[in-house]
Amino acid sequence: MSCHIETILVLNAGSSSLKFTLYKISGEQRLANGVVERIGYGSANMVYRRGDEPKSETPVIARNHSDAIQLVCKALTDPEKGVIKALREIDAIGHRVLHGAEIFKEATLMTPETLDKVRELIPFGPLHMPPNIGGIEACEKTFPGVPNVGVFDTAFHQTMPDYASHYAIPEEYYHKYGFRKYGFHGTSHHYITVATARYLDKPVDQVNLVTCHLGNGSSLAAIKNGKVLDTTMGLTPLAGVVMGTRSGDIDPAIVLELVRKGMTADEIDNLLNKKSGLLGVGGINSNDMRDIIKNAEAGYHGAQLALDMWAHRIVQYIGAYFTLIGGADAIVFTGGIGENSWQARDRVIPRLSCLGVDYDAEANQTLRGTGLLSKPESRVKVIVMPTDEELMIARETYQVVTKGC
Ligand code: AMP
Repeated sequence: MSCHIETILVLNAGSSSLKFTLYKISGEQRLANGVVERIGYGSANMVYRRGDEPKSETPVIARNHSDAIQLVCKALTDPEKGVIKALREIDAIGHRVLHGAEIFKEATLMTPETLDKVRELIPFGPLHMPPNIGGIEACEKTFPGVPNVGVFDTAFHQTMPDYASHYAIPEEYYHKYGFRKYGFHGTSHHYITVATARYLDKPVDQVNLVTCHLGNGSSLAAIKNGKVLDTTMGLTPLAGVVMGTRSGDIDPAIVLELVRKGMTADEIDNLLNKKSGLLGVGGINSNDMRDIIKNAEAGYHGAQLALDMWAHRIVQYIGAYFTLIGGADAIVFTGGIGENSWQARDRVIPRLSCLGVDYDAEANQTLRGTGLLSKPESRVKVIVMPTDEELMIARETYQVVTKGC
């Protein structure tokens, strides 16, 4: 493998989409990014953006992820709108992979052996893992000899101690089926941990945080000395706080009752993953926090209840994690809701004063990008910070391919 790594392509292959970002790693410059959407449908769509220029949208045909990668290659090397002259300029490719189970505790070079191990993990993510793997296979064909690195959403959480990650059911189910908490959004929690340590001017291994990734899918993590001590998602991304369409934590006996009432596993899966959360409680046919807030402010009961439940569960976990850590330097908000919705944050932060948070309500309303939402003298800081999972994947890819150089 070459030690001269300059240009890194980051891919996030979902079931019907392929997100891409091309970086010049020195200076962490984003050269281009975009997404191919509606892969496998009759008509697909490609969004492409060079640097900070306005994005363009083009109808395309993409029958599968291989087609989508060809479209990405064409866009990146386009004589007019492209950013590189030839594909051989791409030195390494980083792939977002949903699940690494206990096998992949860190970003890993994909070889025939490691890729086989990733394939064995398909049962842990039957919807996400096949496209993740498909993206890697397509790149092996399109970019022969270029290293592919798998960056796992679960990897950062692998530092959880057994007493945090195991469920209180007989251990044979852990040994037989791998039933334990794995946690997700690891790349985002990792990015936020590193960036917050830098923001606070502390070494990463001395920073204590509660990181709150709040989007359509949401999770919190307790970070002690830069490492995950606990996180809200579990064996799957269904557990934890109230999400856009997912229930988060419920009494498992509800599932048993639904089975007894005749519902199938697929029906219950659909109910808890796709029809619950803000969507199910709000009753306004939307899982978008903006709609929930608008309707809650207009006095619509369902939306009010959904918003109150959303905030209640987040405050509950922040308090729990603060205690588990033994006190934190900061509580950090990120993700679509965490970064953008001051109204949603305003339902959480004022309730943290007992932890030593001196809330700055004006900053919460006006601040954009990264900054403090607590007064400068606040004992515990509250920070808002945009996440950047793609950049974290590029950094990890660089570290893997230059190891030993
Ligand atoms: P994510 O899954 O991180 O992309 O977050 C998506 C969610 O963020 C959406 O469902 C919205 O509820 C929320 N969101 C995005 N932008 C805003 C905004 N400006 N104000 C309130 N909520 C927002």
